Amino acid sequence: LKSMLSDPSLLQTQAFINNQWVDGENGATFDVSNPARGDVIAQVADLSRADLARAIDGAEAAQKKWAALTAKERCNILRNWYNLMMEHQSDLAMILTAEMGKPLTEAMGEISYGASFVEFFAEEAKRNYGETIPGHQADKRITVIKQPIGVAASITPWNFPNAMITRKAAPALAAGCAFVARPSELTPLSALALGVLAQRAGLPAGILQIVPSNDASASGKEFCENSKVRKLTFTGSTRVGRILLGQAAEQVKKCSMELGGNAPFIVFDDAVLDEAVIGAMACKFRNNGQTCVCANRIYVQAGVYEEFTKRFKVAVEAMKVGDGFAGADLGPLISKPALAKVEDHIADALSKGAVVATGGKPHDLGGTFFEPTILTGVTQDMTVSKEETFGPMAPLFKFENVDDVIAMANDTIFGLAAYFYAKDLSRVYKVAEALEYGIIGVNTGIISTEVAPFGGVKQSGLGREGSRHGMDEYLELKYICMSV
Ligand code: ADP
Repeated sequence: LKSMLSDPSLLQTQAFINNQWVDGENGATFDVSNPARGDVIAQVADLSRADLARAIDGAEAAQKKWAALTAKERCNILRNWYNLMMEHQSDLAMILTAEMGKPLTEAMGEISYGASFVEFFAEEAKRNYGETIPGHQADKRITVIKQPIGVAASITPWNFPNAMITRKAAPALAAGCAFVARPSELTPLSALALGVLAQRAGLPAGILQIVPSNDASASGKEFCENSKVRKLTFTGSTRVGRILLGQAAEQVKKCSMELGGNAPFIVFDDAVLDEAVIGAMACKFRNNGQTCVCANRIYVQAGVYEEFTKRFKVAVEAMKVGDGFAGADLGPLISKPALAKVEDHIADALSKGAVVATGGKPHDLGGTFFEPTILTGVTQDMTVSKEETFGPMAPLFKFENVDDVIAMANDTIFGLAAYFYAKDLSRVYKVAEALEYGIIGVNTGIISTEVAPFGGVKQSGLGREGSRHGMDEYLELKYICMSV
């Protein structure tokens, strides 16, 4: 991997603490492997809880000075960081594909998406406006200011090894917080590369700590139990989100949670079918189906069901599966358990009457490659209607009318993203309002952008990322009441 990079120094395997590259106290390491080939590509420092505590101490010691800079000074450093990320986009993308498996073009896209948060929040730092409120008594003057929470800590997943970190770190740093990032044990290299560039950008020591650790549970406990951490931000499964919220309750710690989804994708009979196919392809198969906003249930109205299925199948069968470095459309799944989950969902659906329209089994390439799959005749009693598959399997449900499909779409504990294709304007409004989701895509399958608030309702999470609302997650309101 190193030999492929134009700047090999981006490939770091030690932890990044106080602008130093360091091993953990035990000198332990863990292996990082390439999911396309299964070979070990790096051995990364495996930090203990005590190491994490030291990183938190460093962050706490540095934070107040960082917060005392002007917003413009923080902005300039973040802006440098953004520029460096874009300058090194190819190298960052290669590191990402090597450890995560997504096609290189998608990895390039993720780097610019990840960098866009840094750019956006660099600008937004200067617009951290408070407010003045007319006093409640003649002598009273009321001012509301926004102040950084303090030290924020993150736990992030493997599916977006770069962007899931910048989406949190950029608003935190812009707000004046210090940030301790514990990347997924499967994809720490992309995170560490961000550290290299942050230092070059001029970020003071301690403001961004990157602490790889193989023991996720210990990291979560340290972040929840260490009172110097004032904010925990997590992206991952609802299962782990519940654990962390439970642990955080002890100190009433502020939390943001981006958790699982179970996105419905609805095709109404007035949809432009070719556009709906394009949207479904992008939405279902991006990152090989491994995003929390991927279409998980595709509902198609009876009158267009056959035709949609036919056109969708042509598009799915045109996709190429393979190594992310070899121009594939779909890379491998992240792990064996991920593959087993896709197989389970398919077996369950078939046992209850669904039919394979294409794909349906592991790919001939072996490893964790899987054939892009369509199932037809899928119904609400099947596991896939309740759980995220997180893989390249598209289940097609048939529905008759609007009320039925809204009820089915909302029949889940999740509420992250939902999509639908329709042209009738009153239907568009009614359906958009009735879907119990934080994000709605209408006639589009791609909704992620730094300028809009991303986040879920119900058990998909708490808080928002991106947009000016994303900054509020790292700020406290302080109300000052003055008698004159
Ligand atoms: P995914 O299914 O996307 O892997 P997880 O919720 O299992 O979702 O993982 C998301 C992140 O949470 C990863 O970095 C993982 O290491 C971490 N994690 C897993 N279990 C725990 C835990 N008990 N406490 C804290 N973090 C955890």
